[in-house]
Amino acid sequence: MASTDWGYDGKNGPEQWGKLYPIANGNNQSPIDIKTSEVKHDTSLKPLSVSYNPATAKEIINVGHSFHVIFEDNDNQSVLKGGPLPDNYRLHQFHFHWGSKNEYGSEHTVDGVKYSGEFHIVHWNSAKYSSIAEAISKADGLAIIGVLLKVGEANPKLQKVLDALHAIKTKDKRAPFTNFDPSTLLPSSLDFWTYFGSLTHPPLYESVTWIIFKESISVSSEQLAQFRSLLSNVEGDNPVPIQHNNRPTQPVKGRTVRASF
Ligand SMILES: [Zn+2]
Repeated sequence: MASTDWGYDGKNGPEQWGKLYPIANGNNQSPIDIKTSEVKHDTSLKPLSVSYNPATAKEIINVGHSFHVIFEDNDNQSVLKGGPLPDNYRLHQFHFHWGSKNEYGSEHTVDGVKYSGEFHIVHWNSAKYSSIAEAISKADGLAIIGVLLKVGEANPKLQKVLDALHAIKTKDKRAPFTNFDPSTLLPSSLDFWTYFGSLTHPPLYESVTWIIFKESISVSSEQLAQFRSLLSNVEGDNPVPIQHNNRPTQPVKGRTVRASF
C-alpha cells in the first residue's frame, strides 16, 4: 500500500492503515462510539462561538475519497472559539462522510447507533501555529466540529453544496465555491460532546479536539445518493463511485467524553 492509495475497501481499507501509519493503533484514535451513560457533564465548558465570514469560502475539490470545500485562512475572519478550546481556531475546510446505504455512513456513533452520514468542519489553532500544515500534527493543533446526518426530509441548506458536485465529478477536479457559511448547516442546539482524538483517515494524527453536536441534521435519501455519485477515478478512467468513506469506530482506551449539557 503506497501512502497515496489508502482507501476504504479491501487491501487498502481501514484494517490495513496501521501497516503504513502505526498511529492507527494509538491511544487517541477517532471516530469513537459515544456512550451517553459514561459521558461526564462538565460545567467548566464555555459556550461555543462559531463565527464564519461567507466571503472566505474559496474552492470545492474532489480529493478522490471525498470532496473538500476550502476556505481562505490567512487571517481570523472565520473562527471557532469557546467550548473546550483555549484559543481561536481558524476555519480551513469542511467535508462529509457517507455510506453505501442509508443504514450507515457516520463515523461517530451514539450508543451504538449509526447515522447515515457525518459533516466535519475543520479548524486549526491560529493562536499558536502559522498554518494548518504546521498545526495538523500537534496535539492542540486542530478542532473539528462533527454533525451527524439523519436520513429523512431533504435539507435545503445542503443544496448549494450538492449543486456544485457536478463540476468536480472526478478526482483532482476543482471549482470556485464562494459566498457560503457552513454554520448555516449546524443544528439549532449547540449542545455538544467533546473528547481528544485523531484525524479519521491517514495520516491519522492525534491532533484533534472533537466537538460533536448532540442534535443531528436531516438529509434525504436522494441527497445521500448525490454524495455517492461522485467518482474516485481521474477523468477518462473507468468510473468508480465513492460509495462509502467512513472509518469504523476505534477503542476509547480510557478517554473521557465530556458534555456541555
Ligand atoms: Zn472527516
